[in-house]
Amino acid sequence: MASTSRSDHDGSGDAPAESTESESALETARRQLSHAATRLEIDPSIVERLRYPKKVHEVTVPIERDDGTVEVFTGYRAQHDSVRGPYKGGLRYHPEVTRDECVGLGMWMTWKCAVMDLPFGGAKGGVAVNPKELSSAEKERLTRRFAQEIRDVIGPNQDIPAPDMGTDPRTMAWLMDAYSMQEGETTPGVVTGKPPVVGGSEGREEAPGRSVAIVTQLVCEYYDRQLEETTVAVQGYGSVGANAARLLDDWGATVVAISDVNGAMYEPEGIDTASVPSHDEEPEAVTTYADDVISNDELLTLDVDVLIPAALGNVITKENAAAIAADLVVEGANGPTTSTADSILAERDVAVVPDILANAGGVTVSYFEWLQDINRRAWSLERVNDELEAEMRAAWGAVRSEFERRDVTWRDAAYIVALSRIAEAHEARGLWP
Ligand code: GLU
Repeated sequence: MASTSRSDHDGSGDAPAESTESESALETARRQLSHAATRLEIDPSIVERLRYPKKVHEVTVPIERDDGTVEVFTGYRAQHDSVRGPYKGGLRYHPEVTRDECVGLGMWMTWKCAVMDLPFGGAKGGVAVNPKELSSAEKERLTRRFAQEIRDVIGPNQDIPAPDMGTDPRTMAWLMDAYSMQEGETTPGVVTGKPPVVGGSEGREEAPGRSVAIVTQLVCEYYDRQLEETTVAVQGYGSVGANAARLLDDWGATVVAISDVNGAMYEPEGIDTASVPSHDEEPEAVTTYADDVISNDELLTLDVDVLIPAALGNVITKENAAAIAADLVVEGANGPTTSTADSILAERDVAVVPDILANAGGVTVSYFEWLQDINRRAWSLERVNDELEAEMRAAWGAVRSEFERRDVTWRDAAYIVALSRIAEAHEARGLWP
């Protein structure tokens, strides 16, 4: 029970039971990098460099608890690569946050930004704390103190945090306020995923789920599958899972299963996804609305057309990969598939659309938010959603052409697009000094 890689669904905590196969996010990220690099003409010294972060900041975050005692937590910010622009990536509050996990997740952010062609590098950070055990006032004190400790290494042109597991728009508002107070000027562009009233973008919260739905539609189209004839199972009903499930339901797909930490609701005829509250609307409530409850493990092996793991990392493992019955897996969580499971699925010809493409809507709308903050001009929801769709289609097109040209998996194709762009930027900039 040592899974250390978890998903980045912003702010929700609806995680199903942990898998038995242990693989850290860093191990998975490094294996994926090595695997993709062998399929690409790329300077090996650049690949070697990309196996390591540029810097990892570790800070001590003491806070006063509501009862007057002082407790000390450890926080991290791992900055992986910034050759294409400022570091970008979420901050998570979770008891299992570690240095290595932040590094692995930061690497994924580098690839994600590059595959989307955003002018950002990759980072990830967090505090090893259980946010469920903190009052709102304690969370605020933790966030303000953490902001203070990492203040020198973040900034709109340096490193721009965002929500992740256990953090949400409110956390980002506190962070932006703490940073701004210290700098002596309101600096909305220091974080993304803020509430719109303080410079957040319309559509940011729904964006990761929206991109999962868009990519699912595109991959179904690619394999000549009508959404109206497609059954879908979604693990996790937080912001990624619930938004993806509801959009696909609206667009005609039949969502037969959804889940949270307590288990899964299963309705072979199709779930009315709007009638089941997401984690943000009513935490951990999915099974209380269900007639038929199955386990999260059973959900993963349902005989559906599309499986969307949108909760934890490491849920598709060597133990269950042979039993995955879906033809398509679209990764809503970050790192839901271990390396061994990935090879098993590839051998079985199960198409796996990787996280770095599928859930990249979050960071893409973060980029829109950053642009809006810099320009001091808000976009309409319609504009955000139109531009998000255009970016997703462009990235999908780039990945699809590598998939066809090189006869590789979807994951390798996405890595090839990302790595080529990063390597080109490294070559253009050269090594300093
Ligand atoms: N945490 C999200 C992710 O993994 C969003 C990061 C961001 O917007 O910077 O993609």
